[in-house]
Amino acid sequence: MTDETSIDIENLSKRYGYTYALRDVTLKILRGEVFVLLGPNGSGKTTLLKILGTLVSPTSGDINIYGLDLKTNGREIRQKIGYLAHDSFLYRDLTGEENIRFYSQFYNLSSKEKLQERINELLNLLKITRWKHESIKNLSRGLQKRFDLVRALIHDPAILLLDEPFSSLDVLSANILKEFIGNVRENKTIVVSTHDIDLAKSLSDRGGILVEGRMRQVFKSSEITSAGVKAIFEM
Ligand code: ADP
Ligand code: MG
Repeated sequence: MTDETSIDIENLSKRYGYTYALRDVTLKILRGEVFVLLGPNGSGKTTLLKILGTLVSPTSGDINIYGLDLKTNGREIRQKIGYLAHDSFLYRDLTGEENIRFYSQFYNLSSKEKLQERINELLNLLKITRWKHESIKNLSRGLQKRFDLVRALIHDPAILLLDEPFSSLDVLSANILKEFIGNVRENKTIVVSTHDIDLAKSLSDRGGILVEGRMRQVFKSSEITSAGVKAIFEM
């Protein structure tokens, strides 16, 4: 981890009708860190990730990503971001590899050979090469998630946004994902939401606890206990 800010969020709010999904969130996320978002259901985790992924626009506030203003540089920022949503982005009737090729068209990837090399490397890292010609609809949820992660990583994004990647994953897929995050974390900024406090602690450098859209506390994972996190949830 460095002390270079990669995501700079200032006074961010998001309102849906009369509901505030986020209220006045200010937070700096550093380059090279794994930052975990914790909070009860409806606390704003997905909204924050969607805003960082440029899928939803804020009601007010400022966000800078690697010095680029999110309001005016959406297109450039999207090239730097890999977003793994709670629900898969994959087409169920296409194979894993067809899906990855389809999504790779949205990025400025150099040559055909480089793309093939990158696909092979990622399929290998996530241990899904042998299923690459299988239709997504025929795969288990864990395998689908791993293909979706390759889809999110195909352009080698500097920032990885993962929305509850571990929920409903089988143990093997969860372990492969954990190992993967461990291997790539040095060169990336990873923001991951989860319900699992113990997992969050073991995976991340720092984290933040959202309650009703407010960032209640930002913590260093090595300095907080699971009981401490739970107490803040319930405050
Ligand atoms: P979390 O991911 O922590 O469960 P969300 O970000 O999904 O929380 O939701 C935060 C709040 O915003 C909730 O009250 C939710 O009902 C509301 N919300 C989220 N998305 C929408 C939407 N598209 N329209 C209306 N309300 C929404
Ligand atoms: Mg959510």
